[in-house]
Amino acid sequence: KMEKKHPCIVMVPSPGLSHLIPLVEFAKMLVHDDDELNVKFIVPTLSSSSSSSSSSSMNSILNNSDLPPNITFTVLPQVNVEDLPVKSQTSTQIRFAVKHSLPFIHQQLTSFMSSTTHHIVALVFSIFATDVLDLAKEFNLLTYVFFASGASLLSFCLYLPYLDETVFSTTNNTMSLTETVNFPGCVVPFQIKDLPDPVLYERSSEVYKSFLNVCRTHSLVDGAIVNTFTHLESEAIAAIQQQQQQQREANDRNTDKVPPFVYPIGPIIQSETSNDVNRLECLRWLDNQPPRSVLYISFGSGGTLSQEQLNEIAFGLEMSGHKFLWVVRAPNEYGGGAYLNEQKEDPLHHLPSGFVERTKGEGLVVPSWAPQVEILGHGSTSAFLSHCGWNSILESVVHGVPMIAWPLFAEQRMNAVLLKEVLKVALMPEKVVDNDEDGIVKREEIARVIKRMMEENEEGLEMRKRIKHLSDAAAAALTQNGSSTKAFSTLKQKWKIV
Ligand code: UDP
Repeated sequence: KMEKKHPCIVMVPSPGLSHLIPLVEFAKMLVHDDDELNVKFIVPTLSSSSSSSSSSSMNSILNNSDLPPNITFTVLPQVNVEDLPVKSQTSTQIRFAVKHSLPFIHQQLTSFMSSTTHHIVALVFSIFATDVLDLAKEFNLLTYVFFASGASLLSFCLYLPYLDETVFSTTNNTMSLTETVNFPGCVVPFQIKDLPDPVLYERSSEVYKSFLNVCRTHSLVDGAIVNTFTHLESEAIAAIQQQQQQQREANDRNTDKVPPFVYPIGPIIQSETSNDVNRLECLRWLDNQPPRSVLYISFGSGGTLSQEQLNEIAFGLEMSGHKFLWVVRAPNEYGGGAYLNEQKEDPLHHLPSGFVERTKGEGLVVPSWAPQVEILGHGSTSAFLSHCGWNSILESVVHGVPMIAWPLFAEQRMNAVLLKEVLKVALMPEKVVDNDEDGIVKREEIARVIKRMMEENEEGLEMRKRIKHLSDAAAAALTQNGSSTKAFSTLKQKWKIV
């Protein structure tokens, strides 16, 4: 008699820590209290990130002995990005890595398919790994995009092919940066300058075309798993569901019940990693600070500033007189300068001379990496100056910490608009986005915003109330009857009976 095979989900994260972290957490949720379900990761990697601080964090995720045995990893041979033109967009590098890993992914899938104990049900991949879709079709697997950003961005991506054929095609990218566009579920109109990076390139450019292509494939999947929750982005979530539902019903009139397309299952945030670099130093220092007195400053796993901007932030911090914990990276003119690339220099050498000594009592600077989730959860932390990466936003929301929005690259400007204009839980220094003049935010402005955020005032109290409310809603979404738990169970049920 044949033994029943156990269901198995294959996950392909695209290179970059902020894709891997939430996907691994999602996998842990799936196998929690369930010995039948298995998750197999196939991880494409890039050569240049081989010894950066984020890749040491990657190793600590993959080699974490606390992971249940039914989650396994196959790390693929590194794809050499030196074959790419220098200064390629992050998204281009990521797609390149995935494309060149396809033969290996194919090989892995073939070997998984021949397993006598498991049967592969679905392939889950992250945004820039859409090239695996063809493989999924070949092996007849269900396909899901794991969207490690917000539903607002997903809605925009699903709508981009339409924008491309209408507004963008008639204006042919001559729209001014302050003109606005709407998309389903956006609460406020978005200015062109706030749209994701690739959309700011000419319509005929490879970067734009490649992004458009990625966006087109997003409506071809069986579902989108989004790291968000209903209360955070209710309009965008509803708009996506409604649009996809209509399309599916139009395509297939016989289905009585079209399964949901969008699964808002968040917030999924990184669990504490006890072997994070600089961990003890940061936590000990925070332990010695008064409650809610510290501004935490970080630009994600790879955000970088120009030398001039780095100086202005340093002087702005000094002028503000407030306490800070700052994760410093060596300067780079491109905002995502260290996202996929190793930084070899000591970042602290690039701070204004005497800064560290002068601010000794007030601040702590650490190079490149800090235990962010624990810092945001620490009672001494009061606010977060953030580049508005989606994971950082969720972590801040979960811990009820209001933000100063300082978007740098990718879709971060969109996220900043959501925080500032829609959710109203962030302040934003002027000129972070407007690239007039030299595009540098001056120390006086930085000090002004920090003071507004850190000192008690009506506006601040209101903002703290709102983020506390979001934090409660985030926790509620994850309770037994919460919206995210329900979406998660629906999805898991579906996978287990295929
Ligand atoms: N992170 C961290 N320590 C750091 C910088 C980043 O633990 O010093 C983590 C952070 O908690 C988050 C992720 O790395 O989970 C960064 O993801 P995000 O989406 O915010 O930004 P990205 O790295 O994609 O720009």
